[in-house]
Amino acid sequence: MALGFLSKLKEGLAKTTRALAGGLGKLVGLGRGAEREALAKLEEVLVSADMGIRTALKLREEIEAMLRRGEIRSTDPAALLAPIRRELKRLMPRRASEPIRAARPPTVVMVVGVNGTGKTTSVGKLAKWLQEGGRKKVILAAADTFRAAATEQLSIWAERAGVEIVRHGHGADPAAVVHDAAEAAVARGADYLLIDTAGRLHTRENLMRELDKIRRVASRKIEGAPHEVLLVLDATTGQNAVSQAKKFADCVGLTGLFLAKLDGTAKGGVVVAIWNEIKVPVKYVGVGEGIDDILPFDPESFVDALFPEDLTKDAT
Ligand code: GDP
Repeated sequence: MALGFLSKLKEGLAKTTRALAGGLGKLVGLGRGAEREALAKLEEVLVSADMGIRTALKLREEIEAMLRRGEIRSTDPAALLAPIRRELKRLMPRRASEPIRAARPPTVVMVVGVNGTGKTTSVGKLAKWLQEGGRKKVILAAADTFRAAATEQLSIWAERAGVEIVRHGHGADPAAVVHDAAEAAVARGADYLLIDTAGRLHTRENLMRELDKIRRVASRKIEGAPHEVLLVLDATTGQNAVSQAKKFADCVGLTGLFLAKLDGTAKGGVVVAIWNEIKVPVKYVGVGEGIDDILPFDPESFVDALFPEDLTKDAT
């Protein structure tokens, strides 16, 4: 991953790494013979970063075993960083998950998620990202016709990203919007059709039925559509994000996640918990409110940014 990406990721994870450094710093001074206490503290630190109990336990057990085997000799936080990094990388997917592309354009990306998670912002960022500086043609479908301001807000993002948008009025049939948008995408030779969907309806069943209908309309117009179904999650909601991910994975079927607001939380470890729970890859992360505050997600760089070599320098 390019250097610019890495520093942006580190910046985005600053709150989390600061919390981790503070927590691990407490291991200093426990002295020899205090391994049990140190391991318990380590587990606590990992849980508080929202990595999930299972991950924290697994890491603790691994470190414990390494100590027993004499592979590491100290519970000094600096000495633990390398094994933590190695174990986390083993728990996470090997490589970054490539965004899915249709064999024949347009690639249809359906974006789902609860209101307030950062869905509209993330669709805007994604539109600009996929456009690759004007080399690709992206069309947005404003299929959240339920929330009064949704279409208006999405139009603003379309303008910022410099992409076209297909929209109907508030309260219109979202399937009709998708129908028109799909026709426009084919007719205009678009590379991507990005469908923004409702984050809330009167009931959950209604929402699921609507998302299903959108899928069917898209697939009737464009072979294999939607090729990608991305769920936007708010990283600041921690374990709540994990349970949302589970529900959507069960009901809608997901190909990837867009984890927004990673910069706004000290609980960036939630990325690990989500992977552990549902095995749907994070494909993008949001690290700010601006249109360019988006990063493709790479597990290896993520772990390196979360536990950099100098993490405990200030704490020790
Ligand atoms: P929606 O209701 O899910 O469509 O959410 P919005 O896109 O309107 O975003 C809700 C709030 O989250 C807004 O204030 C956004 O600026 C903010 N937001 C979205 N993504 C990010 C992000 O990656 N980082 C930060 N710090 N704020 C974000």
